[in-house]
Amino acid sequence: EAAAKAAAAVADTGAPTIFDKIIAKEIPSDIVYEDENVLAFRDINPQAPVHVLVIPKLRDGLTMLSNAEPRHVDVLGKLLHASKIVAEKEGILDGFRVVINNGAEACQSVYHLHLHVLGGRQMKWPPG
Ligand code: ADP
Repeated sequence: EAAAKAAAAVADTGAPTIFDKIIAKEIPSDIVYEDENVLAFRDINPQAPVHVLVIPKLRDGLTMLSNAEPRHVDVLGKLLHASKIVAEKEGILDGFRVVINNGAEACQSVYHLHLHVLGGRQMKWPPG
């Protein structure tokens, strides 16, 4: 299963992603939190009882964290703060995990920066 996931990982092409359609509400998503800069919606393939993706509405070159530049510092902070709001709304403030998969080797599959907010069960360490 891990090998299949790794094999499915693709490289960053800068092409539009499915998250553009989610932001534009052209395809449905289960939105947990939204503001001017950030959208948070439930992952379609949840890995925990709570699994929410937190994304910037404007990608602005942030296909992946390794493309972060000084101009992104503000939105990066907003994404982390929105993750806390999501955890609060979902009732998991006492224990949750925030994950960013960067690149194929980390199994990133969607090249629009996103934070995974996971919780509602005992997490294991180290992650696989
Ligand atoms: P991985 O696919 O290995 O988890 P990413 O870190 O790039 O890699 O995560 C992309 C996430 O986007 C996945 O958890 C996937 O389930 C989720 N996803 C893909 N399409 C949708 C969608 N239409 N709605 C909600 N979540 C989605």
